[in-house]
Amino acid sequence: MKLIFLGPPGAGKGTLAAKATEILNVPHISTGAIFRAAIAAKSPLGLKVKAIIDSGKLVDDGTTIELVKERLAQSDAAKGYILDGFPRTIPQAEALADFSTVEKVVNFDIPDSSVVERLSGRRVCRGCGANYHVSFQKPKKDGVCDACGGELYTRDDDKKEAIEKRLEVYRAQTAPLIDHYRAKGILVDVDARPQVDTVVANFRKALSVQ
Ligand code: AMP
Repeated sequence: MKLIFLGPPGAGKGTLAAKATEILNVPHISTGAIFRAAIAAKSPLGLKVKAIIDSGKLVDDGTTIELVKERLAQSDAAKGYILDGFPRTIPQAEALADFSTVEKVVNFDIPDSSVVERLSGRRVCRGCGANYHVSFQKPKKDGVCDACGGELYTRDDDKKEAIEKRLEVYRAQTAPLIDHYRAKGILVDVDARPQVDTVVANFRKALSVQ
């Protein structure tokens, strides 16, 4: 199944995608995670995008589209994928339609107040990228990843000013994708406010998957 996960930052797209990738047996492709890995590796891409990402703005469409095009050309994405964090603009959506046919767009719906609470408490593993939350999804041991033992850290773009910027960018540039895909008849809404297990159940129901 070829899926897009849409929704504001902090809607839980990454956490859900980590579960859905196992349910559907397709790769989870997160442009944000690819950028963060490039930054950690200090690659030319990482050096180019670090300041942009830390400030909460979007990386330019050309760079992002090229990255996704190359990733979707890999063999593991032939039978399906979950795109998490892409497309984020109408030009990205139009470019994607030229090189792949998306079957469903899952719109994770959540109010701004919950977004701020979730993002400011989010912690990410430096080793494997797994997501935790200081109140809602605590690791067994403080500051340590359950899955790989890596160190948990707060993303620079999860700091207050960057969160506000990201929400503003989401409303202006990404939210129009909801109507764009609804008009194509492929959008399904999932209430992202409940606990993860309930959101997973809602997701299964919305896509009719066991
Ligand atoms: P995310 O992990 O999806 O929240 O992405 C983190 C950051 O990476 C975003 O705030 C953007 O700066 C950048 N980014 C991720 N995906 C895209 C995209 N599709 N277009 C532009 N910038 C992106």
